Amino acid sequence: MIGTSYQTDTLIVGGGVIGCAIAYELAKAGVQVTVLEKDTLGSQSTRAGAGMLGAQVEMTKPDPMFDLSIQSRALFPKLREELLELSGIDMELHTSGIFRIAVDEADRAALLDRQSWQTEAGQRAVWFEDEELRGELGDILSPTYGALYLPDDHQVRNPQLLLALAASSKRLGARFLEHSAMVCFLQDNGAIVGVKTVDSEIRADRVILAAGAWSGLIANQLGLELPVFPVKGQSFLLDSYSPPTPFTIYTHGCYILPKRNGQVYVGATEETRSGFDRRPNLRSLATLSSQAVQLLPSLGDLPFSTPLAGLRPGSLDGLPFLGSVPGIAGLYVATGHFRNGVLLSAITGRLIAELLTGKTPSVDLEPFSLSRLQHS
Ligand SMILES: Cc1cc2nc3c(=O)[nH]c(=O)nc-3n(C[C@H](O)[C@H](O)[C@H](O)COP(=O)(O)OP(=O)(O)OC[C@H]3O[C@@H](n4cnc5c(N)ncnc54)[C@H](O)[C@@H]3O)c2cc1C
Repeated sequence: MIGTSYQTDTLIVGGGVIGCAIAYELAKAGVQVTVLEKDTLGSQSTRAGAGMLGAQVEMTKPDPMFDLSIQSRALFPKLREELLELSGIDMELHTSGIFRIAVDEADRAALLDRQSWQTEAGQRAVWFEDEELRGELGDILSPTYGALYLPDDHQVRNPQLLLALAASSKRLGARFLEHSAMVCFLQDNGAIVGVKTVDSEIRADRVILAAGAWSGLIANQLGLELPVFPVKGQSFLLDSYSPPTPFTIYTHGCYILPKRNGQVYVGATEETRSGFDRRPNLRSLATLSSQAVQLLPSLGDLPFSTPLAGLRPGSLDGLPFLGSVPGIAGLYVATGHFRNGVLLSAITGRLIAELLTGKTPSVDLEPFSLSRLQHS
């Protein structure tokens, strides 16, 4: 039975980092916005994520995704200041850079190639041979095949970023409804005019689907093909007052991030066959911890804090879906950010806000549109 009925200008389904970043930019632009979250804000993929702003370490070719990532990374220092001022919450931006360590000759060649095109694209990327690397990092895996140092790839602490976005949006007038799942869309002549929850109807001029790994399932209700699916990632936190290195160390299948609160984050598996099961399991965590201790032996003495697992919103080509939905008035998507949703949250919020306030988006959205599926 429907208990209450709300009206809002813009409704965002999903209160992860993407939904909250959009809420912030829309609220800043003076738009009345409501966020609907089935659980608690940021409790899903966002909570499990490492928080790397890996615009260079994660990208293997110069393409629109690389450009989008570089632009998003550049927004973080100012965003940090804005959110800190509005909410008093610091996203804990950590700017020591990332070492991407080569594990064999083929990996070395691929990283040297990456150094070359990224430098050509105007980004900083410095090669360290094994001996120099040892001087910088000390106690690491031996021997390495060198490493690419990316001084501008930063990191944040996800729970803090999420809190800062949500608290700042609230201060600007956004409304958040937690423990409130969208059950179905409300339609009028084929246009989306809101959603139903178990006990309410929320009418909205437009609805933005930002439900992470669940977005494909929800879109399916409309017969809409939105190929976004769960890719499970497991990781864990260690306690430390003084992390063994100030740098993020990243290699095949394993990365280590010292956090500004003194903890060390170790990630991450990538599993496509677990469906929506987001429980951590012993086999994955055992494999990951042995890789981490091999990479940085002193980690082995640190006390274990928290296992984490989350469902990345995967997409077939690894690119997010951003923008309107052809043929369905009133519906927008911002999802499928896969391994880089935290990195891309800043630019996603900005682009969707530009689109919804009648501005020309500052990045060409065509490569990230739903219509790209028709050309593939
Ligand atoms: C182990 C791991 C490591 C990662 N490391 C990084 C990294 O270093 N850097 C990086 O940039 N990214 C990283 N990621 C990826 C990043 O976490 C995700 O891309 C990002 O969190 C996606 O944000 P989201 O808001 O789309 O999804 P989510 O955080 O999953 O949020 C979606 C929200 O929608 C809600 N929802 C779903 N269905 C409904 C419904 N019917 N009604 C209402 N609400 C609903 C969910 O409860 C959820 O809170 C990592 C992910 C994992 C798992």
